[in-house]
Amino acid sequence: MTQTQSARPMDGTGPARRLVEASAADAAEVLRRTGTAPCLATVLVGEDPASVAYVRMKRRQCERAGIASRRVALPASISTEGLVAEVTALSRDAGVHGILLQHPVGPHIDERAAFEAIAPEKDVDGVTTHSFAAMAFGLPGFVSCTPGGIMRLLDAYDVDLAGKHAVVVGRSAILGKPAGLLLLGRDATVTYCHSRTVELSARVREADVLLAAVGRPRFIRGADIKPGAVVIDAGYNEGNVGDVDFESARERASLITPVPGGVGPMTIAVLLAQTVVAAKRQLGLA
Ligand code: NAP
Repeated sequence: MTQTQSARPMDGTGPARRLVEASAADAAEVLRRTGTAPCLATVLVGEDPASVAYVRMKRRQCERAGIASRRVALPASISTEGLVAEVTALSRDAGVHGILLQHPVGPHIDERAAFEAIAPEKDVDGVTTHSFAAMAFGLPGFVSCTPGGIMRLLDAYDVDLAGKHAVVVGRSAILGKPAGLLLLGRDATVTYCHSRTVELSARVREADVLLAAVGRPRFIRGADIKPGAVVIDAGYNEGNVGDVDFESARERASLITPVPGGVGPMTIAVLLAQTVVAAKRQLGLA
């Protein structure tokens, strides 16, 4: 590909819709065979508007796919012990197959302790150390939904990862770090960049596959993109803006995810898919 060509957009809505349809068919089959619909419990602490909107969207998508959801709304003042008790109760509740604890839970709460109270077999958002370790070892388990969605999107576009240099900008526990491990598991050569990386532009320029997971609007400039690179923009900043400057990046990339409509829809689709898988396992169907 030459520098003047415009990248093909990596639309996430189509692959996400197909995954949701497959999950809906599976959920219907679970209901038919057991009389029980898969059920996702959503736990929301406080009333942060973005978190309220995320949880509402996830519950609505569940409903459309025939997945029951149980809403647990807790006051912002809840203690770590209180939240851990609530999550533990859901972990023990046979009527709940998946648990989503919406991040963030508030600065006075030990969020990690609350995540660890999720039973591994119900960790459909892939947030526990158990899930992370399973993913890192390449063992069966639930992956963090955004990295899982990114891998599915790369597969939907037949991106060959073996031997490619993948550069991941960002190393958060839910996104950058697991995404890099999943890319490594597919034989990419992986470089992680973060806020202490020196000469970030030089590292970005080496990327055959670039994953931007920074949380800064239009942080990655097109001039730094290797011609022909595959660019995944996981960023979602105020005003529906990604971490990559889309207009300049598309002039150099071969494939690029739009924001919105790229990684975002895949994330929710993976959550639903993992919830149905969790239900099937718990109900003895898988
Ligand atoms: P995060 O926890 O804030 O992590 C941001 C990462 O970027 C950190 O590793 C940080 O490095 C790195 N970083 C910050 N400034 C940098 C700089 N100047 N140069 C290089 N690296 C820098 O964010 P996150 O939760 O991973 O989310 C990242 C983005 O993805 C956000 O826009 C978020 O909204 C979006 N997101 C989207 C979805 C989705 O479903 N589409 C899901 C989750 C997140 P340090 O580790 O050194 O601090």
